[in-house]
Amino acid sequence: MDCSYCGEPLDWRCAPATKLHPECMTRILMGSAAHQLKDCRHFGGRQPEDPPGLTLRQSAWMALEVFNRPMLALAAPAGWEAEMS
Ligand SMILES: [Zn+2]
Repeated sequence: MDCSYCGEPLDWRCAPATKLHPECMTRILMGSAAHQLKDCRHFGGRQPEDPPGLTLRQSAWMALEVFNRPMLALAAPAGWEAEMS
């Protein structure tokens, strides 16, 4: 069975009822990394929702990483993406 968000195969971490990876659920509920950092178009920011060149799954992992690091979001300066690379 594949994830209904990213299309990649589900694994043991996924509750069957959700048909989602935990990271993909976070991406859906909390928004992209850029959204959580208030640097996407919704906040007048410069970043695309999902970084170009990443798969949906990779972007979801990035969103989960930001969600798990609230101090990063509070402290994020302009140009935060340079830190992530
Ligand atoms: Zn997924």
